[in-house]
Amino acid sequence: MTDTPVRRTPWPQSSSRPVVTPLQPSVVYASDTPDALDAQYEGRVQGYTYAREGHPNATVLAEKIDRLEGATGGIVLGSGMAAVTAAILGLLKAGDHVLGGDQLYGRSLRLLTQDLPRFGIATGFADPTDVGAMEAAIRPETRMILIEVVSNPTLRIADIEGIARLARERGVLLVVDNTFTTPRGFRPFDHGADIVIHSVTKLLAGHSDVTLGYVAARDPGHRKAIYDLSTTFGFTPSPFDCWLAERGLHSFNLRYDRAEENAARLADHLATLPGVKRVLYPTRDDHPDQARALALLGRRGGSMLSFELHGGRAAANALTAAAPNIAFAPTLGDIGTTLSHAASSSHRGLTPEGRAALGITEGFFRLSVGVEEIEILIEELTAAVEAASRA
Ligand SMILES: *Cc1c(COP(=O)(O)O)cnc(C)c1O
Repeated sequence: MTDTPVRRTPWPQSSSRPVVTPLQPSVVYASDTPDALDAQYEGRVQGYTYAREGHPNATVLAEKIDRLEGATGGIVLGSGMAAVTAAILGLLKAGDHVLGGDQLYGRSLRLLTQDLPRFGIATGFADPTDVGAMEAAIRPETRMILIEVVSNPTLRIADIEGIARLARERGVLLVVDNTFTTPRGFRPFDHGADIVIHSVTKLLAGHSDVTLGYVAARDPGHRKAIYDLSTTFGFTPSPFDCWLAERGLHSFNLRYDRAEENAARLADHLATLPGVKRVLYPTRDDHPDQARALALLGRRGGSMLSFELHGGRAAANALTAAAPNIAFAPTLGDIGTTLSHAASSSHRGLTPEGRAALGITEGFFRLSVGVEEIEILIEELTAAVEAASRA
């Protein structure tokens, strides 16, 4: 009789163990008997059945992020936007209202303005640096507040403690997207958040080679609702992405500390250049929310900084063209420094007046600072700002 290559091959025996987390791409898991499957579905024994419902690489990654955030039972999903969507659709229903910070990540803004209203979930926005404005925007049917600690790209710091108090008083869930700050800079559960979200795509994975999200809930009932929604909607993460992200996470603390140190030094350097009109970095004396940044984030200013050039689009074009080693790309949190221009990317949907109200001009840039040698970054950006000044 001939054999068939389709036969399920047992994994080779080894008395030693791998030191690296194995990558498990299997979508399905075979059980011994229907009784064994019952035991699994009823939670009497632990086991995987079908990858959309969970798989080992997602579990390993979720538990690692849980430990960083001080969470339990966090869920890894296919993208940061899947995490934002799952938290909202898993917990709310038609007739409810969500109050968002007015400078949320662009797609989160779009979810709130374009998509949720189609499902009967009303939305509104207020300035999260001003707890009075948030309070005034709460309605009787408000069930959730969604904020980010540090806004993009103007790096304003939300009054998260005031908002947490308000949310508690009003019985409203507080959801914090902690992508920018990361648990190394700030742990929302220690400050009254009910739900914490990450785009793992960014700093946690850190290499711009995976798209993943994470969501954790303080309340096990909320956790289950979010999990069930994600499994039904199919927000499944790829095992390979989870495996890569776990590898990225191993160097997260080192990357973050180095990038933050670089960002603080670069902010101070850019502020000395005549071509730079202003620099925004949370812990600097000239930042509008410096006191709150120091209180909430400690001395940690993070790895993001923004600056504004004298001059308009011509200066902006000259800057990116003269900085070939700094990727001009609409992302953040990569191991290498990236530069983004809000007027032509994240905020292009706003009118020039709308952008001006946020202080975003054609000369406004955000830097997501990486781990390069600081001398190289200073040299490259100094030359680029000089080129912009000549334009
Ligand atoms: C990128 C980002 C998201 C969305 O994450 P994806 O992984 O791109 O879906 C959500 N929130 C913030 C703050 C982000 O920076």
